[in-house]
Amino acid sequence: MLSLMKAYHGDTTGCMAVCDPEEGMHSLFASLLPQHHFAPAPTAPFDATAEQVEHDLSALRSVLERHHHEIAALLMEPLLQAAGGLNMTSPAYVAGARALCDEFNVLLIFDEVATGFGRTGKLFAADHAGVTPDIMVLSKGLTGGYLGHAATLATDRVHNAFIGDTPHHAFMHGPTFMGNPLACRVALESLRVFEEENYLGKIAKLSQQLKRELLDDQALNAHPAVADVRVLGATAVIEAHSAEALKGVGGFARERGVWLRPIGRWLYTMPAYITSEAEMVKVTDVMKAWFNRS
Ligand SMILES: *Cc1c(COP(=O)(O)O)cnc(C)c1O
Repeated sequence: MLSLMKAYHGDTTGCMAVCDPEEGMHSLFASLLPQHHFAPAPTAPFDATAEQVEHDLSALRSVLERHHHEIAALLMEPLLQAAGGLNMTSPAYVAGARALCDEFNVLLIFDEVATGFGRTGKLFAADHAGVTPDIMVLSKGLTGGYLGHAATLATDRVHNAFIGDTPHHAFMHGPTFMGNPLACRVALESLRVFEEENYLGKIAKLSQQLKRELLDDQALNAHPAVADVRVLGATAVIEAHSAEALKGVGGFARERGVWLRPIGRWLYTMPAYITSEAEMVKVTDVMKAWFNRS
């Protein structure tokens, strides 16, 4: 596999092995994990042009040039590396990655567990770039949090590789609760609500509000402890210069009736899509109050 620095893909052995090997939380397991290739995390922001992502893409290209013969797939969280620090990149990077995978005959896998179902403002992060991965992984938003469920989608080309007359072709991999009918039913109902109640509209409103409350706040952006403020869809992060600057923020927020859980030096919110305008203000006010406390 080829994965990216700052990546987070889960906590089981195979998944830990494709998480950021340096900053990840899995150092305890490092000696057990299979070794994969890693490319630098993208650095260009969401609104970067094709030209401005050139640097990030050439880093990806150079790993592929050297190792494509031993790489099955490039795996990434498109547009938003979530647990690795809410690192946002441009659709041009995602489109460029697709082109590189085609050029080097390497499959492209999108882990949209965090980004899927509207989190970045479109149904899938892939939609911003107009690209289709060969394999796509979905979970979190699939059931709106009501029941644990995940799905792995594949193109016909990938799917058909597992079809044939011999057991060697079959994907001999079936956990006890695979295809759980109740979880599937909950997912279908969640998708129905998402479409019929125009969740993408709700997400657009949340996004505008997060931009207004956080991005447009001059004092917050100018605060000496703040390195960057980013908003993408229903995701907002205040990046501090150090984790130290966020020490105690969890308790501070809880005392004010808000649950915030920073990761490292990133204070973020990924609100539920049913969050009202007043509730969202309460959250962003607490995030700002932390930096404005004397
Ligand atoms: C949460 C998350 C996972 C982990 O999913 P599990 O169901 O806990 O294995 C994987 N990838 C991304 C991008 C995530 O945000």
